[in-house]
Amino acid sequence: MKAAKLCGPRDTRVVDVPVPELQAGEVLVRVRAVAICASDIAIYENGCAGGGVYPPGPMSQGHEFSGEIAALGEGADAPAVGTRVAVEPSWHCGQCDMCREGLCNLCRNIVFPSYPPRDGAMAEYITCPDYSVAALPDSVSDIEGALTEPLGVGIHAVRLAQLCGNEKVAILGAGMVGIATMLAAQVQGIDTFCVVEPVPERREFAEKIGAQVTAATVGALLGTGSEPHVVFECSGDNAALGEALDLVRPNGRVIVVGIPELPEICFDCRRARRNQISITFSRRSLNTLETAVELIASDQVDLSAIPVRTFSLDEAPEAFALAAQRPGPELRFVVLP
Ligand SMILES: [Zn+2]
Ligand SMILES: [Zn+2]
Repeated sequence: MKAAKLCGPRDTRVVDVPVPELQAGEVLVRVRAVAICASDIAIYENGCAGGGVYPPGPMSQGHEFSGEIAALGEGADAPAVGTRVAVEPSWHCGQCDMCREGLCNLCRNIVFPSYPPRDGAMAEYITCPDYSVAALPDSVSDIEGALTEPLGVGIHAVRLAQLCGNEKVAILGAGMVGIATMLAAQVQGIDTFCVVEPVPERREFAEKIGAQVTAATVGALLGTGSEPHVVFECSGDNAALGEALDLVRPNGRVIVVGIPELPEICFDCRRARRNQISITFSRRSLNTLETAVELIASDQVDLSAIPVRTFSLDEAPEAFALAAQRPGPELRFVVLP
């Protein structure tokens, strides 16, 4: 089969490799859409995303994907061959203390396709544990199926925030995860959003889907009286946590969803302490796939309008090179193998 492999810094190549061998309890998925995430770009450029190091050898990236069941491994409990599926790419052991407490996103033996050394989905086929796939109704496109992963990240962050209906929410960073978080908060009845995003086209998109206030910087919002109860930091910007603490109202909550580039970030803790701010770091997603599929299928969340640009698998090197440039209007570059 064809696979796009990261062979070194900014060096993605399309190569021929064997179809991965199917183990018991797994399904073979024929990949139909795979989106490039900001964490993929961090590994593509720097060899790591929030810790970790370069893959020891060529590795396929991509963990936001959908496809079609091509084969079932021995004993696999999964939809029939031919069924279109989306995949929750956080594969847990089911045995450790975190798994037993239901915190599978914090599994001590977690396997995450596209995170070294496990190959991701930028290929014609990938094997997945049977429990990680969910059937897609005909009304949900392949690309929407792939975007169930970032939507799941947003759903998980919103669950952690325990939002109440009349709260004001700020989103820092209107990339895919920021927008997914906003859409997930809207499902919880939140309708007052301010969104901070430097890229004008991304601000416009946030306004189109219901942001009341948008600004290029947090500084532009300070002192305007629009103090949010909850700030979701989705930009990954190294200064953003400190800015979120400046923006949020007293007794507010800051949920950190974005992955800062640096291992250490600095912020002024005085205002945060005086105002009794809670900070929660969100880790990927937890049991969100079925909810994400249901929200899309029932039109409670519309991902069809998300600005994307598509590429063939042969064009994957170009897709990564473009995705690594300055962020533009597209929220995702999607490869259709
Ligand atoms: Zn992702
Ligand atoms: Zn575990």
